[in-house]
Amino acid sequence: MNNAKIIEAIYFAGVRHKDQTRKGLGRIPYINHPIQVAKVLSDFGENDDDLIKSALLHDVIEDTTKNEKEIKELSNIILEKFGEIVLLTVLEVSDNKSLPVEERKKLQVVNTPKLSDSAKKLKIADKICNILDIKNDPPVNWSLKRKLSYLDWANKVVSGAKGVNKKLDHYFDQVYNETYSFLKKK
Ligand code: ZN
Repeated sequence: MNNAKIIEAIYFAGVRHKDQTRKGLGRIPYINHPIQVAKVLSDFGENDDDLIKSALLHDVIEDTTKNEKEIKELSNIILEKFGEIVLLTVLEVSDNKSLPVEERKKLQVVNTPKLSDSAKKLKIADKICNILDIKNDPPVNWSLKRKLSYLDWANKVVSGAKGVNKKLDHYFDQVYNETYSFLKKK
């Protein structure tokens, strides 16, 4: 593992997300999320440097750019600093924000089975972390119905990503089931 490059990816993502927090009452710094996604992958035996860097950077394009020009500029920086595989993986898991939310959600379900193995693993870890947040520090103003519908949608997306790391698949099911019963009990 090239520690210097991993640290650089953490630092780079931290700077990009510096003014952002997660959507919960806890006002958790946004950077905790990509770090947690990288940790989930690492916990389940994924230690490829490019995958871990991609996990750390997975939301910088989607959440820290405003238009095509900024996406291009940022893509060039990622390419230069972290290489082509990392850039392509990050792009694979980035939604096109110019599309309406419902359309983006549909596209994730349709496109996920076509992603690279790395992007599939990243997708699963990302959804695991988002569901854990819904359980532990839910987005402010989300109704029970909205939380449950997020879970159902995430489950659909992840079903198209399974088969590349069995233990990770299993952990997703566990987090999904636990959160589902937790929400239903309330
Ligand atoms: Zn994410």
